[in-house]
Amino acid sequence: MTRMTPLLERNEQFARTYTPVPLGLPAAQVIVVTCLDHRVDPAIVLGLKLGDAPVIRNAGGRVTQAVIDDLAYLAFLAGQLFGGQLAEGGLFEVAVIHHTQCGTGFLADPAFRRQAAAATGLPEATLEASAVADPHATVQADVERLLASPLLPPQVTVSGHVYDVATGRITTTLDARHP
Ligand SMILES: [Zn+2]
Repeated sequence: MTRMTPLLERNEQFARTYTPVPLGLPAAQVIVVTCLDHRVDPAIVLGLKLGDAPVIRNAGGRVTQAVIDDLAYLAFLAGQLFGGQLAEGGLFEVAVIHHTQCGTGFLADPAFRRQAAAATGLPEATLEASAVADPHATVQADVERLLASPLLPPQVTVSGHVYDVATGRITTTLDARHP
């Protein structure tokens, strides 16, 4: 018996009626970048089904170099495997979604940040860069960062959104744009 036991039982239920999804283009042609917060699960919040959309999650849903690297590879892979099937409109829309009440918001406070740096060994600058205190501001900064990256393929568009944990509603801050 581990904490995983009840979850594995749910998986057993899931597998009973499971239909495999073949490797293909994400049906929604969207890639979601968002926070790892367990109240912000894109499958539930956006109604994603298997095969709909890749999801990249980290603390805050920040556009870090690691996120940019993953997006560059995904775009390359899609071009290699499915180049002929790609729609005229391009490859994907990358939807960056930040949220209210983010646990990284505490990192905007210098005293808290200093404590966190001492306890984790992470550089204060790294912690400061992951803070989402004002999701509308950070999502805008991250969309701009992604659009400015030379690794982002030109066929990809980027949009920015904020999820309100209190209402369950997503507001679009920046409409989809090409680099
Ligand atoms: Zn968060």
